[in-house]
Formats: sequence, C-alpha cells, structure tokens
Amino acid sequence: MLSTLNESQQKAAQHIDGPMLILAGAGSGKTKTITTRLAYLISIGIDPSSILTLTFTNKAATEMRERAFSMIDKNTYPPLLCTFHKFGLLFLKFHISQLGRKNNFVIIDSDDKKRILKSIDKETTTAVLSSEISKFKNSVVSIAEAKASAQDKLYMQIADVYEKYENYLEQNNLVDFDDLILLTYKILSTNKELAKETSEKYRYIMVDEYQDTNELQYMLLKKLCDQHNNLCVVGDDDQSIYGWRGATIKNILTFGETFENTLIIKLEENYRSTNKILFHANALIEHNRDRLGKKLVGTRGEGNSIRVYESQDENEETRKITEDIKKLISNGESAKDIAILYRVNALSRALEEGLNRANIHYKLVGGLKFYERAEIKDLIAYFRVITNANDNFSIKRIINKPKRGIGKMTIDKLELESHKKSKSMFSIIKEYTPDELTVLVGKKNSRTLKVFMASVEDLQDVLEDTKMRFIDLFEDTFDFKSTYAKVIDAEDRLANIDEFYGYLRDFFIKNIDLNLEDFLNEISLESAADAISDEYISLMSIHASKGLEFKHLFIVGMEEGFFPLVGDGSNIEEERRLGYVAITRACDELTMSFVHSRFYKGRRTQLVKSRFLTESDLIKGSLTIEKNSAFKKDDLVKHKIFGMGRILSVQKAGKDLKLNINFGGMKRDILSSFVEKI
Ligand code: ATP
Ligand code: MG
Repeated sequence: MLSTLNESQQKAAQHIDGPMLILAGAGSGKTKTITTRLAYLISIGIDPSSILTLTFTNKAATEMRERAFSMIDKNTYPPLLCTFHKFGLLFLKFHISQLGRKNNFVIIDSDDKKRILKSIDKETTTAVLSSEISKFKNSVVSIAEAKASAQDKLYMQIADVYEKYENYLEQNNLVDFDDLILLTYKILSTNKELAKETSEKYRYIMVDEYQDTNELQYMLLKKLCDQHNNLCVVGDDDQSIYGWRGATIKNILTFGETFENTLIIKLEENYRSTNKILFHANALIEHNRDRLGKKLVGTRGEGNSIRVYESQDENEETRKITEDIKKLISNGESAKDIAILYRVNALSRALEEGLNRANIHYKLVGGLKFYERAEIKDLIAYFRVITNANDNFSIKRIINKPKRGIGKMTIDKLELESHKKSKSMFSIIKEYTPDELTVLVGKKNSRTLKVFMASVEDLQDVLEDTKMRFIDLFEDTFDFKSTYAKVIDAEDRLANIDEFYGYLRDFFIKNIDLNLEDFLNEISLESAADAISDEYISLMSIHASKGLEFKHLFIVGMEEGFFPLVGDGSNIEEERRLGYVAITRACDELTMSFVHSRFYKGRRTQLVKSRFLTESDLIKGSLTIEKNSAFKKDDLVKHKIFGMGRILSVQKAGKDLKLNINFGGMKRDILSSFVEKI
C-alpha cells in the first residue's frame, strides 16, 4: 500500500509514535497519506480499536472510510473514523451520566436552537444570540465568565440569555451541536480517571483538515492524547475557511511548540490539478498577507486553460453551463465527476431550474436540508416523543399535529405545571387523574391528552415487539399524513414523508440490532444529500466542497458582493482562502463565471466582476491589485495598533516593503505586511 505514495508521504505514513504535523497545500495527498497511514498501522498489528481518525464533514468521513477500508482486510474490526461531533455523540451516550444527565438526550439542530433562543429573548436578534453563544461554547467560556467579561448592555443581555438557554437545555435534556464536543471535554477534564482511560483507549489519533479546528476541539484533542501524544494532524493554512465559526489558525501554526518533538512533514507536489489550474490558484492566494507560504509543484502537465464565462444574467450563465455539462455527459464523462460551486447558497436556485429543464440529474449537497423541512421535523419530533416521552420540547411541537383541538393556552398551562412540579408534560398527562387534569386544562382537552398519551405508549410497545410494523401502526394511530394532506404543496410534502418512512424502514432492515433512538441520533448528524452519487452532478457551496475533487468544475457567481462576499463580519483574506479552496477542487477543467446582473432578494441587481478573477490572473481588470508592491507614497493604510496613517516613503526590505508612515503626527517604520491598504 505504501508504493502508491511518494517519499515524504511514505515517511509520514510509517511514523508511529510521537506527534506529527503534515503541513501542505491543496491536492498534495494529505488525506491520502493519513488514510494510508491508518491502513498501515493496522497492517503492522496495531489494534484497530485503538485508532481514532477525526474529520469535519460526514462526506469527508465517508470518503476517507472508503479509501482506507479498501486497503484493509474485510474482516478487520473497523477503526473509528468520524466527525468530531459524532465522536462526541458516541462518548456522551456512554458518559453523560457523569454530568447528572440521562443518556436519552435529544440533539437539537440550529433551527431548534433559534426557536429556543427566540422564546427566551424576543428583542435581541436571534442570529446574534445564536452565534455569540456558540462562540462562548467553542472557546470554553462559562456563564460566569461570560457575565464577568460583558462590557456593555448587549453582552450582558447575551450572557443572561446564555444562562437561560443552558438551563433550558439541561431541564429538557437537550444538547446542541456545540455541546457534543463541549460536554465531552467537560467530562474528560473533571474526571481524571476516565480521561486517562479514554486516552489510553485511543493511542493513535489523526485529524484531517486541522486548520479548521477551534479552541475547544484543540483542548479536547489535548485531553485525548494526554497519555501518549500520538497525534498526527494534517492541514493547510491557506484552506482555513471557518474563522467565522471560531476556527483558529493558531492551532496549526503553534502545533510544533505545543507538542514537543513534533515531526513536521511537508508535501510539495500536487497530484490533483493541472499546472494551469495550480498557477491561477497560487496567483490568487499570493494576495494574502497572513500565510506561511508553501511551495506546490504540479505533476500532471499543463492542461487546458481555465475558461471565464461572461453573461448578462443568471439565465444565460445557467444556459452555458448546462450546455457544457450535456456535452460532457454525452462524451461519456461520469456525472459524479462534475460539480458546480458557489459562495452563496441562494445562487443554486437558478441553476436548479436550468438543470431540471435540461434534464440533468443533480444533487444539492448541503443547502436546505431534507431534515430541516417542517414535515420532517414534525415526524422527527413524533419519533423523539415515542423514544423519550419526557421530551417537552418535541411534545410541544406535535401535540396538536394533526389538529386535535389542543390550543396554545393548554400547552402553556401544561408547560407551567411541568415546571412547577419538575415533571415532564407527559408525566403530568399520565400521572394526573382525569379529574385533576380536567381542573388544569378542561374536560375536553383532558380526554384528548389521555388518548394521546395512550397512543404514544402503545407505539412504544410496538417498537419493543416488532420494529417493522412500527410505521404502519404509527400512521394508523396518528394519521400523521393528514396534517399535510390539504396544504398547497401537499404532493411534495407527502412525498417527503414517504421518503422518510422508506428511509427508516431501510435503516431497520440494514441494522437489525439498532432501534429508533439510534436512527434519530444518526440523522441528527447527517444531511440527507451528503452522499455523492454516480448518477448525479453535484451542486454545493464552497464550504461544503472542502477536501473533495472533481474532474470538471464550474464556479459561478464570480462577482463582487457574491464572491468575495462583503458585509458584516466578512474577512477578505478568508474569502480569498475560499477562492483558493474552490479553484483547487478542480482536477482537469475549470470554468469560472460572472454575470452583469442577478435577480436576488426580490430585485435585479447590477454587478461588477470579482476582484478574484483579476487577482488570479485570469482577466485583466480595472480593480486595483492588493499586492505588497501596490503600496506607494501617499496611500492611506491601517495598522492594528497605530490605527490609520499615510505613507511617507517606500523602501524595499527583503521580500517585504519597509514603509515610513505618518500616524497622526507620529512617524514610524513599519513592514508592509503589518498594515492594510484602505
Ligand atoms: P486537500 O487539501 O484539498 O484536502 P489533500 O492534500 O488532502 O487535498 P488528497 O485528496 O489526499 O489531497 O489527494 C489529491 C489527489 O492526489 C487524490 O486524487 C489522490 O489520490 C492523488 N494523490 C495523492 N498522492 C499521490 C501520489 N503519491 N501519487 C499519485 N496520486 C496521488
Ligand atoms: Mg484532504
């Protein structure tokens, strides 16, 4: 298996003990190296169950599993290879009791999270609350710390909501995505014995896409390899694209210092893309200041030039691209080798219409997820209630679906009683006598609720006896489909419901020993369209394309505002890294496309082509190029500490430029890489 690797890759794959960092550019075989290393470790007799491989997306995990498992004996015990979140989930299933919680917790998604936050605070923008709380969690900031560090009213409010939100999750035994990792970390940091045991269990740990780890993930990794320091990470600073979610490039830059005796391996050949593609990718990323700077030499020959499409609007753009794709497919190319990428998910709509018209099968990866549809969320809530009737959060969602006359007032009363008595709403319905319940919610409601409770209990029994009859009995009992039988897009929704039923049946058939709860856990971490299939071309955001490669690639929306995305919180260097990630997904052929106008958010907007097209040397543009050499006398610049200033003179200093800058009367010599032009 080592023979397919080059010398440096072989060295990395055969390194067994001690920390290792593989730092290398796109397509240099980082993922290939660690998947081979995984197989190699097993081939020399290392216990597969002592190897843990972590990555970021389910899709990447699936691909890696395929690559690695094809190299190992079919009868080998499969080593754990999953996302950080999945690892957290598995860990919490065994150990959440350490925090005094039950292991039938429910994982909520970002939409649920927002609904909870909204119910706590109607004034503050929910998106802000959601992302700030997430940042706290991912930097392991406790509620007390958040309160202590709040500088203004807004942050005091956020800290307050943070506390209420955490209480709500705990009371309802819910965990959000961040908790999967945070709670795992908390358990390991309070229980030394368990931490030692866990670290000894996973003696060999590997992490792909390490540049996108955040503080919390780093701390968790540190705990996991505490006993052995056998941590092998691979990454590329130029591909760090999750800064907005708290990923910190510091993790990769300081790895060698944090872990003593780190073996650092560089891979300098690119096996994925033609030289032309590499040339433009490199030209683009060279405009970033904050980078380590790496060499990347092509191995696949010159290749075809990159095409740039200019169109009037999205319809013309779509037409050109669908025609190209049709040609590719009729020339015998496989659909799975073709992908269209965009920075902003909304751009997929026009493409979808065009592809539908042209009869080209496509799969949307990411985007609006199947599981985020209302009808599917309702079903999931039902199933959650059936596996854990004490889940107040889910009961509230379905108690009146389909309509059974239970109004908001009744739900509020039940919930209030549930808080007062510290019992779940379901327990109240169950334990109160019909008369007691009537006092609380009235006679009619009392009767309805008792019937509802009995039905849930019946279905719980069915699940114990025979899973295969579950769906039919579920429909017979609750007549769930009738909820959606009369809505405008009923056909679509009923089809989704059927697809979901089919999916669950299939899960039961394939996993005889797993139950409904396992199914719910499984789907809470995946998105339905995660898999790339042979028969479909792929449409996805650039974020979702990380680590993947496609023979024929189209990147649309190359316009200022769409890519780079500009606005609140966007960061031009991170946008450029996204550009680098996008271009380096292409193996053989790349087409980039821009339009003069797009219909967006209800109106047609005139657009200017992206600076990235000029920066990557694809077209000559009028936009100024932000190269170091672009600094000249009289330019206005900004420094992190000294603020705004004007350049007085420019001098060469090695690769950099030395600038004499006047910061409001204070003159200083500063290297150009420390200032930003404005
Ligand atoms: P990214 O940074 O985009 O995640 P990567 O560094 O992980 O890229 P891989 O996906 O592992 O790169 O490899 C890119 C392509 O190059 C794959 O198709 C892989 O099979 C091929 N490849 C890697 N190493 C070699 C090699 N030594 N010989 C031939 N092909 C190779
Ligand atoms: Mg990779």
